[in-house]
Amino acid sequence: MRKLVAGNWKMNGNLAQLAELDAIAAAAEANSGVDVAVCPPFTLIVPARERAPGLAIGAQDVHAKDCGAHTGCISAPMLKEAGARLVIVGHSERRADQYEKDEEVRAKATAALAAGLQTIVCVGESEAQREAGEHIAVVTRQLQGSLPTERGSGELVIAYEPIWAIGTGKTATPEDVREMHAAIRNHVGKGVRILYGGSVKADNAAELFATPNVDGALVGGASLTAAQFVPIIEAAAGV
Ligand code: PEP
Repeated sequence: MRKLVAGNWKMNGNLAQLAELDAIAAAAEANSGVDVAVCPPFTLIVPARERAPGLAIGAQDVHAKDCGAHTGCISAPMLKEAGARLVIVGHSERRADQYEKDEEVRAKATAALAAGLQTIVCVGESEAQREAGEHIAVVTRQLQGSLPTERGSGELVIAYEPIWAIGTGKTATPEDVREMHAAIRNHVGKGVRILYGGSVKADNAAELFATPNVDGALVGGASLTAAQFVPIIEAAAGV
């Protein structure tokens, strides 16, 4: 499967920072065997598309309904109209900060796929759950609860992101990743890309990409600058 390297800018970036997209788009073009995407904050989706028309630009969340009385929310048809090609749902920061539950993640993923968006559903265990040996059971439960039953016309992608590895500089070992991605593959079957996320950097990317069932990466901090993100794209192309 082609690898997908997707950047999650979280609540970072401004118009000036879109200059980083020039070198990211050039790297995406030069490494055409890899799919590359950047998900900036909602307000930067349109200017990001204008700055880098060849690059896939996405969002970090979506509402489950198409329209209605949901102050502050953005729907899948709105994202499509803005030119977004993908969306991240169920990120652990939203599960923690906005109290999103599996059922809501599933509804969002269903709406996004129905709108034809590539939809990255995030799952991952806490440090305490891993230490208790519950990591596989926790992630399996999240998959059972979060994955849509209707696939729509969009592509479903899974991101395994151990919470303890996000933004901490700690990365799961290749053995941890191999074990979890095999369990996820077992659940979703062939043909669904499974990304790893959690402190992916230039110096650990190649080893992660060489791990069985790792079909790419969801990258937070290291996607904010081309200097850090481009080597990850190149590592994906080199596997
Ligand atoms: C993320 O937010 O999805 C993520 C993986 O962040 P970081 O790469 O900074 O750990």
